[in-house]
Amino acid sequence: MTRAPRDSLSRVAADVVACQRCPRLRSWCRLVAEVKVKRFRDESYWGRPVPGFGDPRARLLVVGLAPAAHGGNRTGRVFTGDRSGDFLFAGLHRAGFASQPTSVSRGDGLRLRDCYIAPLARCAPPANKPTPEEIRNCREYLLREWALLTRVRAVLVLGKLAMDGFVALLREAGRVPRRAYAFGHGVSHDLGGGLRLFASFHPSQQNTFTGKLTAAGFDGVLDQVRRHLGGE
Ligand code: SF4
Repeated sequence: MTRAPRDSLSRVAADVVACQRCPRLRSWCRLVAEVKVKRFRDESYWGRPVPGFGDPRARLLVVGLAPAAHGGNRTGRVFTGDRSGDFLFAGLHRAGFASQPTSVSRGDGLRLRDCYIAPLARCAPPANKPTPEEIRNCREYLLREWALLTRVRAVLVLGKLAMDGFVALLREAGRVPRRAYAFGHGVSHDLGGGLRLFASFHPSQQNTFTGKLTAAGFDGVLDQVRRHLGGE
């Protein structure tokens, strides 16, 4: 009798990279990778779906929305090579979750400690907005990672859309009841069984340039996460 192969994070990553489920996103990512922008015109873009990244034994899962056209879609690693990533990894480094404060390319030596990062949708969307259907199409990958990341005790969602998408995933997994969880920067919710959901504004340029999300404000949320993990 042949047994189904056991799932693994590397298998999920391979399936993500080969995925073609959303025609709109696939053609957009390919187009962006072909046309490029002036400042990256000499670079070879990744142009494929972007897998999750981090420590397989992570207790912290960070959930974003989707890769950026000239960030993850260019470099092949989530939150890498764009301003949102600069802000995010600087914060994760200050909090001890990242080996360095910058994330510029897949070969830059960055390591995450006790932390794993995954977006809801793995392809860069036009105007940074995946459709609800595209988010649903992609849910399988985060669900599989969720099942494999058995040590996670804290989930940090970056923005309301990430929170809504992650709560929908938990419902599908039978983990939470059908009720709404309020979103707000610094808000957290007990999900039972030692698991806590933390929320932050998304580190988009729109939020960080306007001061809606500051480094101190982000550190405050990561301090809460640290306290929660440290208390176990
Ligand atoms: S967004 Fe997800 S489901 Fe859609 S094509 Fe990309 S990897 Fe596949």
